[in-house]
Amino acid sequence: MNNSSTRCLIIGSGPAGYTAALYTSRANLNPVLYEGEQPGGQLTITTEVENFPGYPEGTTGTQLMEDIRAQAIKFGASVRTGIITKVDFSKRPFVAHISDGTTISADSIIISTGATAKFLGLPDEQKYMGMGVSACATCDGFFYRGKRVAVVGGGDTACEEALYLSNLASAVFLIVRKDYLRASKVMQKRVLDKPNITVLFNTNTVGLFGEEFLEGAHLVENIGTDKEQHFDLAIDGFFLAIGHKPNTDIFNGEINLDENGYIVTQTPTTATNIPGVFAAGDVADPIYRQAITAAGSGCKAALDVEKFLSEQL
Ligand code: NDP
Repeated sequence: MNNSSTRCLIIGSGPAGYTAALYTSRANLNPVLYEGEQPGGQLTITTEVENFPGYPEGTTGTQLMEDIRAQAIKFGASVRTGIITKVDFSKRPFVAHISDGTTISADSIIISTGATAKFLGLPDEQKYMGMGVSACATCDGFFYRGKRVAVVGGGDTACEEALYLSNLASAVFLIVRKDYLRASKVMQKRVLDKPNITVLFNTNTVGLFGEEFLEGAHLVENIGTDKEQHFDLAIDGFFLAIGHKPNTDIFNGEINLDENGYIVTQTPTTATNIPGVFAAGDVADPIYRQAITAAGSGCKAALDVEKFLSEQL
């Protein structure tokens, strides 16, 4: 029978959540972690992970998550399937509602619900996911050394991804739906100055093609105008960089969020505006978004919880 109360409830299961569970379990706080809709988080949709310290041969995103999860369970964390649908933050202990209709009360909470990369919504994106389609250049760019890739988006993320990829790939095409880049001037200049980046303005992607792996994209220039032109671009990699959506809908109105929906923390700590509630990982990080930074912030949140609970005695 699952306990219906805990010293520390962890909501979400990427590297931040599992690392927070590892640290809080080793601190004898008997944490309970609810894994949410995508157990293991965004890493489970990437292929190989070669930049997480400690894996000289690389590993897969799924394996990495299984490893940290197992490490947390070994020290007593209760890792549960289920989605937290609502939390009453009005008094302590907090009460969280679970998708199976039950509730759990918690003396402290770590929110690590992550962020979700936005996709265009084309069925082909799912078809070639991990076979040429990616939403993370830092994670997957290395596999496209010497190849041709495209990045979709015109913001800072897209420019950053295009620049990163331009040091690996032979040619990078930045597909921008408007006739201008939304990115900061300095990023725009860097992109436009880079010889192997071609910016395709006024261009939309309408489909992808390839036998087994991605081989190209169906593009349309000046869509909906009398200059509309359809053409195909041969590419091996298609990177989405049209923004991320932090998974904070259920906390809106309760926890302070920034204008893009990310949880605001009292840096350098992971404390939110509600005493006893902490946030770790991509849900509070619009900038770094790496497995290692998420894991690091999960550790910080666990230490912040320990300190908070010890001060309550
Ligand atoms: P943004 O929202 O700034 O940009 C998203 C881009 O994707 C825009 O060019 C947008 O086009 C385009 N886009 C959105 N939907 C579609 C679609 N369906 N089809 C085609 N294109 C689409 O997101 P970012 O992730 O780039 O940045 C988020 C925030 O993080 C920003 O404030 C940014 O400045 C910041 N950031 C800062 C960094 C840094 O300082 N180093 C690095 C990365 C991000 P359109 O312009 O037409 O709407």
